Amino acid sequence: MLALSIAGFDPTGGAGVLNDVKVLNLLGIKSAGIPTTLTLQNTSVFKGWEPVNPDYLKSSLELIFSDLPVKGIKIGMIGTSENAEIIGYFLKKYRNKISWIVLDPVLQASLNYPLFSSKEEYLNILKTKIFPYVDVITPNVFEASVLTEKIPKKKKDLLELCKILISFGIKVIIITGWESELFTWDFFCEKDKAFFFKKKKLKGNFHGTGCAFSSAILGFLLKGFSCKEAFKKAKNWLYLYLKKSTKEKIGGNLWLFL
Ligand code: PLP
Repeated sequence: MLALSIAGFDPTGGAGVLNDVKVLNLLGIKSAGIPTTLTLQNTSVFKGWEPVNPDYLKSSLELIFSDLPVKGIKIGMIGTSENAEIIGYFLKKYRNKISWIVLDPVLQASLNYPLFSSKEEYLNILKTKIFPYVDVITPNVFEASVLTEKIPKKKKDLLELCKILISFGIKVIIITGWESELFTWDFFCEKDKAFFFKKKKLKGNFHGTGCAFSSAILGFLLKGFSCKEAFKKAKNWLYLYLKKSTKEKIGGNLWLFL
């Protein structure tokens, strides 16, 4: 059994492909990774990114899918419409061989830098060529708002955003990071099940939590847990790691925790 991360390359290892593979390996899932973009960053600054050559992405996906027994896919930063089209083509081609596909629709770095280009075209391709093959999507509140063109004013408004995302063909929606001064809530929505999961806020400026959370969900799904169980287990697992890491700061600004 093998998981594949298709995401951006962050040289710090705090986010993207490197982080996804670390999380999956820690959960006992063998994993491979294909970069969609190369980012230029450390824990203090985000200087920019560029997409990998589309021919590289195409050939790499074909080589991996035709060779390795990929059972789960985690998609993170995609970057460009062209990359999104290529990934959509391969999801369609290999979907019947894959048990779980989890999408973290990364739109912005924690250091406030946009991680995609050509907004309208990009979002359109995401919705039409990728969403129909996705089992679980894990946007934060900002990403969910961009994807649905709705601004939630209260916590309970997240249900409306989930219904819109479900209408694109995604089975499970997990909106992360509704925050108050002391707490954060994640919202889980699957058919008739919808609930909030509350955690005390941790002090710290973390990097790559979205990547780690969605990879952990994929890991627990591949271990045979239901979506609801995988969500709770991933949340608790990540929380423990973040808590441990607050004792030892690595990097100048955002903390690396794995
Ligand atoms: N993916 C890549 C490749 C990144 O470089 C980043 C941020 O730098 C992200 C995802 C998003 O990371 P975060 O979870 O910190 O927002």
